Amino acid sequence: MISCPGRAVGRPISADEYRGDVMPTCPECGAPGVPLMFGLPVPEARDAAADGHLALGGCLVPEAAPNWQCPRQHRWWDPDETAWEERLLAALLAHGYTEADTTS
Ligand SMILES: [Zn+2]
Repeated sequence: MISCPGRAVGRPISADEYRGDVMPTCPECGAPGVPLMFGLPVPEARDAAADGHLALGGCLVPEAAPNWQCPRQHRWWDPDETAWEERLLAALLAHGYTEADTTS
């Protein structure tokens, strides 16, 4: 059995809890990573990237795409996609993104 510390079963995890919980760090230099996003970025994503809260990987998604990037541009893939989604969404929301605003 592999236990998963920090993730209680049967209880929703808030973005706030995640922030102090799992901090993916670069396997090459140990710096804290930010979510790496592929595809055409929304304006909020460009703002967040400018502030260093996420990284933009470009419009084309490569095979075996990495999902995290450190400030030194190292990229790696982390299997915890939930943490990635939480961080990405938190960065977008912090820059004014709203999930309902998808048609404008
Ligand atoms: Zn690095």
